Amino acid sequence: MRVLIAANCGFCPGVRNAISTAEKTLARAQARETVYSLGPIIHNKDEVDRLAKAGLHTVESVADVDSGTVLIRSHGVAPRELERLKERGLHIVDATCVLVKRVQQIATQLEAEGYEVVIIGEENHPEVQGVVGCVHDVVVIADERDLHKLPRDGKLGIVCQTTQSPEHFGRMLGAIGRGSFRGLKVINTLCKEAIKRQESAIELCKRVDVMFVLGGLHSANTRRLAELCKKHNPATFHLQNWDELDRNVLSGKTVAGVTAGASTPNWIVEEFVKQLEGFGERG
Ligand code: SF4
Repeated sequence: MRVLIAANCGFCPGVRNAISTAEKTLARAQARETVYSLGPIIHNKDEVDRLAKAGLHTVESVADVDSGTVLIRSHGVAPRELERLKERGLHIVDATCVLVKRVQQIATQLEAEGYEVVIIGEENHPEVQGVVGCVHDVVVIADERDLHKLPRDGKLGIVCQTTQSPEHFGRMLGAIGRGSFRGLKVINTLCKEAIKRQESAIELCKRVDVMFVLGGLHSANTRRLAELCKKHNPATFHLQNWDELDRNVLSGKTVAGVTAGASTPNWIVEEFVKQLEGFGERG
C-alpha cells in the first residue's frame, strides 16, 4: 500500500506543551508526591495510558484530590475550579494552551463591555466549559438548531471554540446575522494550528483511495478532521490506532492517506503508517 501523510498533522504546540509539562512534573515529583491531571491530559487513550504508567493519575473532579500536584491540561479550567484547587492547598501546574487562555480573556472582556457572550462550540467540551466558567451569562450554540437560545434583540459578543472549522464559524455567523440583535461583536478565536490540519487533511483526502484519521474518539479536533474528510472522500475512517482497523476496508485500494488530530502522538501515526505500508506485501 502506498501511504501519503498529511503535511500538517499530529501534536499541536498546545498539546506538546501539556505533555512535556506533565513529563517534567512527574520527573520532579518522582515518588515524593502524587501528580494528578484534572480530566484526561489529552483526548487520546493510548497517550493517557502511557503517562499513567509513568505515574500520572487522572481524576475527574477537584474533590478527588487531597494533596500533591494538579496539572491543568491544555483545555484549561474555569477560574472557580482554580480557586477550589488553591483553597485545598494543592500545588497547581497550569498547562492551559495560550490560545485557550485568550478565549477565556476575550469572553471576560466582552462581558465587561456589556455584551451577552455567545460561544460557538460543543457545550460539554472541557475547553468550552472553562470559557463558560469565566462569565456570568453565556449561551453556547453548536449549530443552527441552537439559534433559538440567543437572546432576542441582544447585544451579542461572539467567540468560537478554538478547534471549530472556519466554514462552520462563518456559516453560524451568517445565521446569527440574519436573526434579531441590537449589537454584534465577533472575535475570531479559531486556532491556526487546527485550521492548518483541516486544510492539509482535505487536500490529501481528495487524492487517495482511502483516508484514515487517527485520534481519540472524544477528541473534538480529530472528529472535525474526520467529518471534513468524509465530505470529500466517503472512504474516510476515524480510528484510534492500528488495532482498530478492519482490514476489509483496504480491499482494492492502492493509495491511502493518513492524518492525525492535534492530540495524537507521533508514535501512533508512525506505527500505523509502518503497518499500512507493509500491508500489501504481507497480503
Ligand atoms: S489545537 Fe490550538 S488551541 Fe487547541 S491546544 Fe492545540 S494549539 Fe492550543
